[in-house]
Amino acid sequence: ATPTAVMVATGVGANNGVLIKGGDALERAQKIRYVVFDKTGTLTQSKAAVTTVKVFTRMDRGEFLTLVASAEANSEHPISKAILEYACNFHFFEDPRVTKDSLIEISDAKMTGWLLDTVDFYTIPGQGIQCYINEKQILVGNRSLLGERGVNIPIDVENVLVDLEENAKTGILVAYDSQLIGVMGVADPIKREAAVVVEGLFKMGVRSIMVTGDNWRTAKAVAQEAGIQDVRAEVLPAGKADVIRSLQKDGSIVAMVGDGINDSPALAAADVGMAIGAGTDIAIEAADYVLMKSNLEDVITAIDLSRKTFARIR
Ligand code: ADP
Ligand code: MG
Repeated sequence: ATPTAVMVATGVGANNGVLIKGGDALERAQKIRYVVFDKTGTLTQSKAAVTTVKVFTRMDRGEFLTLVASAEANSEHPISKAILEYACNFHFFEDPRVTKDSLIEISDAKMTGWLLDTVDFYTIPGQGIQCYINEKQILVGNRSLLGERGVNIPIDVENVLVDLEENAKTGILVAYDSQLIGVMGVADPIKREAAVVVEGLFKMGVRSIMVTGDNWRTAKAVAQEAGIQDVRAEVLPAGKADVIRSLQKDGSIVAMVGDGINDSPALAAADVGMAIGAGTDIAIEAADYVLMKSNLEDVITAIDLSRKTFARIR
């Protein structure tokens, strides 16, 4: 393709909400053989919502939610937002002065005065978060996070997790001062276009794979809804990049579609990295493409555009 054709294609992309960072990425997209999709925020809507709250201590629900939300307020993970929103609703709907509209204003203005102070917050990518509240450590995350920290997960709690996961929900465990104090279930509905896009890619000779840090049961339940057979679950961020590299071994051109900080190593490792526009800045920086509308159909748009642009010179 001539430089002009590349410029035109880049412009057409931009007009359709597909930002392309450079002609090389545009050229590589025509040869994509595998598209690796992240689950949370990529295949799913990132409209995660808390569906279940089970508290195991004498602490009441309000106290429990305040504690968890205070920790999660430091993070931008979709799970964090869901927990914060749930806790906000719980607290403010008990206060008759607060209407739904003012709640939206409150959260917009980050006037979350009921949150507790946190110290030493950090994210454990692919596993959860940690910080200190009232000089006691709080852990919010999956089995492996709590397992690694020596927090015992009794069989009845494990049963609650399995039940959530079989219903495509993510089970989140909370430990405070080394004690398991509760479990939350988070549901994140799949994007409406996901299955159609996977099908469309298949017809174009492109295979879809799902990679996620989430557990196998939830992963399989979501993949099934999307029509994806090839699933890699319980993968840490560095592992996502390894998945890309192993697919590239036979010379295949591999695309990665992701939205999170945890996807950025894989976005960088992929021949074509595509970031979800609504995703984190770090993912957007690491990617070659930005899908501004956050719509998965634009994965097809991007490949089509590349094929059309470079078909002319063949
Ligand atoms: P994905 O690969 O699907 O985008 P992540 O790698 O971000 O998922 O997270 C993997 C798992 O780690 C989540 O399913 C959740 O169990 C746990 N996790 C990650 N971030 C958080 C958080 N902020 N709060 C609680 N749990 C978290
Ligand atoms: Mg994600």
